[in-house]
Amino acid sequence: MQNSMKTNILDNTSTSNEIVREGIGISPGIVISQVFIHDFESFDPNKTAILYKHINQNKIEEEKERFLKAVQDTTDQINLIMNKAQSMIDSDPLSSLLDAYQHMLKSSRLVRGIISRIENSHINAEGAILEETKAISEIFKAMDDPYISARIEDINDISSRLLKNLQTVSATTLSQIQENSVIISRKLSVADASLLNNKAISGFVVIDGSKQGHTSLLAKSMGIPAVIQIPDILDIANSGDTIIIDGTYGKVILNPTQETIELYRKYRADFLHWKRSLTRLKDLPAVTTDGTYIQLKGNIDIPNEADFLNESGADGVGLFRSEYLYLNRNDLPSIEEQLNALKKISSDIPNKPIVFRTIDIGADKIAPILGYYQPKNPALGLRGVRYTKSYTDILKDQFKAVLIALNEIDVSVLLPMISTVDEVIDAKNLLLKAAEELREQGTVIPSYLPKLGVMIETPSAAIESDILAQQVDFFSIGTNDLTQYTLAVDREDTLVENLYDPLNPAVLRLVKLSIDNANKNNIPVCLCGDIASNYHWTALLVGFGIRELSMPAINIPIIKERIRSFSLERMINLSNKVLSCHTKEDIKNALLEFDLN
Ligand code: PEP
Ligand code: MG
Repeated sequence: MQNSMKTNILDNTSTSNEIVREGIGISPGIVISQVFIHDFESFDPNKTAILYKHINQNKIEEEKERFLKAVQDTTDQINLIMNKAQSMIDSDPLSSLLDAYQHMLKSSRLVRGIISRIENSHINAEGAILEETKAISEIFKAMDDPYISARIEDINDISSRLLKNLQTVSATTLSQIQENSVIISRKLSVADASLLNNKAISGFVVIDGSKQGHTSLLAKSMGIPAVIQIPDILDIANSGDTIIIDGTYGKVILNPTQETIELYRKYRADFLHWKRSLTRLKDLPAVTTDGTYIQLKGNIDIPNEADFLNESGADGVGLFRSEYLYLNRNDLPSIEEQLNALKKISSDIPNKPIVFRTIDIGADKIAPILGYYQPKNPALGLRGVRYTKSYTDILKDQFKAVLIALNEIDVSVLLPMISTVDEVIDAKNLLLKAAEELREQGTVIPSYLPKLGVMIETPSAAIESDILAQQVDFFSIGTNDLTQYTLAVDREDTLVENLYDPLNPAVLRLVKLSIDNANKNNIPVCLCGDIASNYHWTALLVGFGIRELSMPAINIPIIKERIRSFSLERMINLSNKVLSCHTKEDIKNALLEFDLN
């Protein structure tokens, strides 16, 4: 069904007013509706220079008070928004971001920096906000990290609110939005979006926004189609225009012709039908036509995603990326907080196993609380288990949270970025020590330890997977990093993204080797990299011997449908054929041929 949407018949419509733009689809689905332009007056330091002025020494205290009053007003507004957010279907991502906003308004670097600029540079509060925001943004930009870039939006949003409050301009009210509108905006901050009546929005298109930014998070939370990164959208769209958004393929069509509308009505009906048919699979097993069961588990980046996993019929959590608990904050998460995160996941997806991966901070995920570390080559630096080997207390606390959780939850531990067996041995000793310390202090924990597994995501781990398999209870193959390290291609670098392809004989051989070594040693092996959620790969991976896949919740039904369509025998034949291929092209052709037959 979805493939039909790829056909672009719209390119032949140059005589109409129809305008087609392509951006990045961040939340799937199709909407046909009216535009509501809402430029949320994004904060632009260059346009607000007029606010800047010097003040006399005797006015400094007064100015600080004026600023602190704006901080209080902004905090009150965020509190109001937070109360409102509680009524959203899925309020947790929003609440945690609003929480982060509140942190920023406490004694953060932002607030301290602004006060110190008023005191030391003798400038007004507006000027101090502009300078401090610019300085922080520059530091963040220099870090060249998509997660941190997304945080610049948060800082700008808070600064913008502070400025508005200094000028006693009240927050924008959005009550005039027509029911079912598509919001078009320069940006859509969490705070702004939470003022919207959910029922009034059927989709949104924004100029800015990154895949990891909060706009994307919101779109997914709200379950509405959304497209980001359409730079000229505010120049070409007017309120009231008819618009089509295809959140699956990142397409936006303004003033569509009747023919296009009819076509997209059909696509929309197909999409909804397809979604409904996948929902029907929820309670059916993922089993091949000749009776081999495959476990389909979910990847979790934030605790509340577990709810979606339950809805999609997941067999458990195959990968809980615990680094989320460390981002966006000024202190370290306590053992209790981590325990609560595990309990929350377990209550959302009851009686299902959870794989808790210890933090993989470094490279693409930076947590300021753990210090700004700028290695020469981040992907090869102190990341994953290498980081926690240097900061054992952090890892020990994570182990303690898991050990306590084990009293009531089936939870195992997964170590990221393993490249030598010694790292596993050290981690095992630390796990024993964590258990010993808990027992010494009288905390009740089970007499057994949690199962311990390793990510196979470096070539060395894959090559020595026969040795690792004797040390651990399970493997989880991380093809995202395994591809990056095997092919020596940075997974974040768009200039070399054409070289980044897991469908490469070298990567495939390492995947197969790791699966074989796990199977020979009778330990389970899961695959949790992105390819687990791509249905073009499913038959090949099952043919290779994979019996467990872990992916975002939304992909589980389609992968299940795929597994239920073929026999294991056919999948094994495919995998043998692929292993005999020498080039990526040959491998792609083998997969295509499999699909056509
Ligand atoms: C992987 O590397 O494939 C993986 C699942 O881990 P992450 O994407 O978190 O690095
Ligand atoms: Mg990885």
